[in-house]
Amino acid sequence: MSCNWENVVLELIRRTSSSLPEDVVQVLELNRSLEQSGSNAELALELVSKNIQMAKNRSMPICQDTGTISFYISTPIGFDQLALEKACVNAVSKATEIGFLRQNSVDSVDGKNSGNNLGPGSPTFHFHQHSESHVDLRLILKGGGCENMSAQYSLPTTIQGKRCDRDLDGVRAVVLDAIFQAQGKGCGPGFIGVCIGGDRASGYDYAKQQLLRTLDDVNTDPKLAELEALIMSDANKLEIGPMGFGGKFTIGGCKVGKLNRLPASFFVSVSYMCWAYRRRGVLLDLQGNAKEWLYQNPDEKFPALNESNISKDQTITIGLAQKPNARKLQLPLDENAVRSLKSGDIVLLNGKMFTGRDEIHKYLFKGGDIPQIRGGVIYHCGPVVLEKNGHYKIIAAGPTTSIREEPYQADVIEKFAIKAVVGKGGMGQKTLDACKKFGCVYLHAIGGAAQIYAACVTNVPAVYLKEKFGSPEAVWEMEVRDFPAVVTMDSHGNSLHQNVNDDSKARIVSMMM
Ligand code: SF4
Repeated sequence: MSCNWENVVLELIRRTSSSLPEDVVQVLELNRSLEQSGSNAELALELVSKNIQMAKNRSMPICQDTGTISFYISTPIGFDQLALEKACVNAVSKATEIGFLRQNSVDSVDGKNSGNNLGPGSPTFHFHQHSESHVDLRLILKGGGCENMSAQYSLPTTIQGKRCDRDLDGVRAVVLDAIFQAQGKGCGPGFIGVCIGGDRASGYDYAKQQLLRTLDDVNTDPKLAELEALIMSDANKLEIGPMGFGGKFTIGGCKVGKLNRLPASFFVSVSYMCWAYRRRGVLLDLQGNAKEWLYQNPDEKFPALNESNISKDQTITIGLAQKPNARKLQLPLDENAVRSLKSGDIVLLNGKMFTGRDEIHKYLFKGGDIPQIRGGVIYHCGPVVLEKNGHYKIIAAGPTTSIREEPYQADVIEKFAIKAVVGKGGMGQKTLDACKKFGCVYLHAIGGAAQIYAACVTNVPAVYLKEKFGSPEAVWEMEVRDFPAVVTMDSHGNSLHQNVNDDSKARIVSMMM
């Protein structure tokens, strides 16, 4: 097989990772005006929009979590699928080396990172034969934060005290519940793929495949088309809003498919996709020449591959320093500064912070020590980092889902006198209590805004435990400038997450009456 194939797959990965499809961008932009001027929801959408532009201009990942890599490939009869699979594997390895993909694949038992995104089940391939004479190659990159919020229901069931039967009203109810459960954690506004029926495995798979449909695609089944519209309308009445900050724009699309089922089973599978809805595709001739790029306008332009240039950082202005309602904070924080912060405040952080996620929290909880973090700020983040001549360059650095650290966080706050925890999706009661008791705040960064946050990093003086835990799990010491975040859990026991949860719960319950 010619090297065309490997190159075109590499280009597909680059476009998918760095540039959102046209239909998704349009929906995100159109709905920005729904949010109130000056609100946290508006700030989130503003940063999302800037991040999309920056990622495309720089050919760098939209989000640092470049996700599971799923190829959907249809080939003519007699086509050598094994050779194409090999070309895809090679392209994935190369894309990881360049930084289009984060080192994102770990052994499920010992946690060892393969370093090149290859391993059992990574990437995943869905091959089909079709009767066309071309190859149809599509790619979805789906991050862990939203994948963790995907869900499967077996009907009949009971949701929010209401019985959900084996009918379309029952389907609507459980999909709304999945959207309600995802609030904050899945980096909304979200996009929903649903499968009614199938078995447990095929249901999840088909729900995810619905995400290959364009957002303007109207279901050919009138009953499902009606259901899609109804879920969209109801979900946006939940007022969960972008990032779960509260607001009008909760869901940007809902696509429902159905598979036959056993009479004894009635599964509803929901694939929750975040705003960083990365899917691209290309139609190829049998020599591997691209005939048509999918999910884009014919005149859409991308920087040439060799123009991918992160030194353009200098020219990037995020423009938040002038925000009238944003408060500049110098790190490390003292207790007075922490106690003066209130849930809902917008802050711009300046100074030093330390990344730390799952492995680090477990390590610290179990008695490990990293003296440098004492009295400091922990950022739940697994950045994409390039190393050149002993220097580190952060090229994508958005927050990861914080709730995974809930079992450890309170203990870490106490032991290390942590003054602020930065992440996304909020945390639980134990952490809220620790914030109150020990003088700490939880700051919500904008999920997926990896380029914005990378541009805020002015220096990377050191890294700790990289050999032990691998790059995304290591502790990166970062100096930041005007790093934007929203206080969502303060040191007085207030939680914006709890407020939005309570409000949207009342709404979903009333919708199910
Ligand atoms: S936008 Fe959020 S949920 Fe989506 S991949 Fe990035 S961190 Fe994960």
